[in-house]
Amino acid sequence: MRSIPLPHPRLPENLQPLDLLSRDLRWTWRPSLRALFSALDPALWEKTNGNPVALLQAVPAERLEAASRDSVFLTSLSAVRSELGIEDAAEPAHPAMRAMKSRGDRIAYFSAEFGLTELLPVYAGGLGVLAGDHLKSASDLRLPLVGVGLFYRHGYFRQSLSRPGGQKESNPAIDIAELPISLPQTPKGAPPIVTVAVGERDVRVLIRLVQVGRVPLLLLDTDLEENHPDDRTITAQLYGGDHETRIRQEIVLGIGGLRALDLLGCRPTIRHINEGHAAFVGLEKMRQLIAEEGLTFADAKERAAAGTVFTTHTPVPAGIDRFAPELVARYIAGYVPEGLSLDEFMKLGQESGDPHEAFSMAVLALRLCGHANAVSQLHARVSRRLWLGLLPELADEDVKIRAITNGVHRPTWTDPEIAAMPLLEEPDPAAGTRLWSVHEVLRSRLVDVCRARLRSHAAAQGASAEEIERAGSVLDPGALTIGFARRFATYKRANLIFRDPERLLRMLSSARMQILFAGKAHPQDEPGKELLRIIGAYAHQPEFFGKIVLLPDYDMRLARALVAGCDVWLNNPVRPHEASGTSGMKAAMNGVLNLSVLDGWWDEAPYEETGFVIGPATDYAPDEEVAASLYDVLETKVLPLFFQRDESGRPAGWIEKMVQSAARIGREFSSDRMVLQYLELCYVPAAERRISVLEGARRAAYALTPSNPRG
Ligand SMILES: *Cc1c(COP(=O)(O)O)cnc(C)c1O
Repeated sequence: MRSIPLPHPRLPENLQPLDLLSRDLRWTWRPSLRALFSALDPALWEKTNGNPVALLQAVPAERLEAASRDSVFLTSLSAVRSELGIEDAAEPAHPAMRAMKSRGDRIAYFSAEFGLTELLPVYAGGLGVLAGDHLKSASDLRLPLVGVGLFYRHGYFRQSLSRPGGQKESNPAIDIAELPISLPQTPKGAPPIVTVAVGERDVRVLIRLVQVGRVPLLLLDTDLEENHPDDRTITAQLYGGDHETRIRQEIVLGIGGLRALDLLGCRPTIRHINEGHAAFVGLEKMRQLIAEEGLTFADAKERAAAGTVFTTHTPVPAGIDRFAPELVARYIAGYVPEGLSLDEFMKLGQESGDPHEAFSMAVLALRLCGHANAVSQLHARVSRRLWLGLLPELADEDVKIRAITNGVHRPTWTDPEIAAMPLLEEPDPAAGTRLWSVHEVLRSRLVDVCRARLRSHAAAQGASAEEIERAGSVLDPGALTIGFARRFATYKRANLIFRDPERLLRMLSSARMQILFAGKAHPQDEPGKELLRIIGAYAHQPEFFGKIVLLPDYDMRLARALVAGCDVWLNNPVRPHEASGTSGMKAAMNGVLNLSVLDGWWDEAPYEETGFVIGPATDYAPDEEVAASLYDVLETKVLPLFFQRDESGRPAGWIEKMVQSAARIGREFSSDRMVLQYLELCYVPAAERRISVLEGARRAAYALTPSNPRG
C-alpha cells in the first residue's frame, strides 16, 4: 500500500527524500530521524512541536537552499535513508513470520483508536496507545500487518482546567495538511473511496493513509462534501457522540474497514479485532463469503471465525459498547447474512435469550472469533470466569481466552539516553551511577515541562502576569517525585492518596516529596470529573500548593516526560478492574519504580525487585484499607529507601531497583514480546486453522462432485 506520489513543492531536488521521511512515522521512535529534521531548523522544530511535515512547509527557502548544499546535512540524510532502506529490505527474523509472508498471509488490525503521536490525536488513552505500539513493533519485527481505524477530524477532546480542576473540553479540527497523512493508491487508480450503508443512506468513506514505518494504517473519514451533513460528522470525534453515533462509527470501522482493504487490493487472511468496537468486521467477512463463494451461514461463520482474533480489554461486561436492540435492528438489518434471521443475528450479541437484552459488541466478537485473548494473566483468569460463565457454549468450543500481557514500545517510551544504555540485571555500580545521573536530569527537565505547561495554560485562560508567574513556580527539581497520569476513570481512584489528607500532609511537610497528577475524564463521566475537581482543590490549598500539581491536557507528549522524569509511578485501581495498565511499564523502562496495587500487569511483574506493592492481592479491597497500605508503604519503604544516601549523595538501594526495573521490565513488558506472542498464540494458529477449514471444505466438495466415484 503506497501513497500517491507527489513532489514536495518546496524542497530542492536533492532534498525531496525528506518528504517521504516526514510521512513515515518512524521519526516518532527514531532519534536519528528527529535529529535530522531538527538540524534543518532547530527553532522551528521546537515551534512545530517536533512535527516534520509542518517543519518542511515553514522552513525558510534560504535555509532549504543552504541545506541542499551542506555536505554534513546531506551525509546524515543519506545515512538515515540507507539505515531505513536496509531495514525495509530485510527479511523477518522469525521463521513463523517468514512462513506467513511466503504463504501470503496478512493481518488486518482493527481498532477504534490509535495512539502513535500526540500530533495525531486519534486516541483517548491506554487502548489506543497499545494499538499504536502494536503497529510500531509489527513494523520493527517486519510482521505483515495493516492497521485500520477511523480518522476523527476533531480528534479526542483537548482539556483545559478552570479553578479548581473543572474540566473544559474543546475539539479543534485537525489540520490535515500539516500532518503525515496521505491518500493511498488504488490498484486501478480509482479514488480511494468506499460506500457503506449506514441506516437509510449510503455513506461515502474516504480512505486515508498513515505510514507507520513498514506498516500502513488506514484511517476512514466520512467528512466528504457529497455526504449528507449528518453523515459527514460520523467520524468527527472519538468517543464524542451518543450511542447512535457510536454504532454508526462502528459500522464504518468494521464494514467499511474490510471494504477499504478490498479496494486497495488487500484481502487479509487474519483479522485482529482490538476490543469489541470493530466486531462488525466478522459480519462483513461472512457476507463476503456467502456472496462470493455461496457458503451457507454456518460454513461462513466457521471460515470467518478461523481467521479472526479478538482481544478483550475489559474485565466488566458493561465496560464495552452495548446497544439497545432497536438501535442495532435499525442499523444492521441490511447486513444480516443470508440464511440468518434478524432475531437470530440479535442473539449473537446477547448473553441470554431475552430479546430485550442490550446487544453487546464484546459478546458478538467472542461469538465470531476463533481465537480470543485477555491482556494479562490475571485478566485472562477473570475473563474466563466472566465470559465462559455468561456464554457456556463457548467453553465447549476452542475459544480459550488466552493471556497475552500487554507491552509497550520501548523506543517510543524510553528516553533515548536510557535506551542506549546497556542495562544488565547483575549489579554494576558504574551503570547504576550513570542511570541515576541521567535520571536526575530527566526529573529536572520534567519540572521545566510542567512549569511551562502550567504557565501557558494560565496565559491561555487570560490569567494576570502575577498568576502566570505563580503557576510556573511550582515543584522542586530535587524532590522525590510521584506521578499519577492516566484517564480519570473512577475505578483508577486518582484521589485515593487523599483519603487521609492530614497524614499525606505530614509526609509532604517532613520529606522533600511532591505528586503530579494528569488525566482527562470522559466528557460524560461526571464522577470522573469530580475526581479532577477534588485534586484541583487540594492543589490550590496553600499547604499543598506547589507539591500537589494537577497538569492539564494529558497527552502522549506529557506522558513521555512524566514516565521518564518521575521517581515513583503510582497505580491504585480497584483490583481486578485494571485489565493490564501500561503506563507503569513505560515508567519502569526508564528506571522509575512502580508503587502499585497487585492488579493487571503488576500482579505478574517481578515487583519485589523492581518496585513496591500496595496491599494484599485482594479483589475489591475497600478504599480505606488500600489507602492505609499505600501510606504505610510510602512511610516505611519508599521514603526511607529514597533518602538513604551514600557518601556521594546517591541512594544506592534505590538505584539497584532502578537498574532491575529498566532491565527486566524493559525486556519482559515490551511490545516486541507482546507482538511475538500474538504471532505464536494467535496469528499462526489462525493461519493454520483457516487453511484446515479451507481444505476440509475442499474435501467435502470433492466428495460431493458427481464425477467422483466415491460421491
Ligand atoms: C500509556 C498511556 C495511557 C495508559 O495509562 P494506564 O495507566 O495504563 O491507564 C493513557 N494515556 C496516555 C497518553 C498514555 O500514554
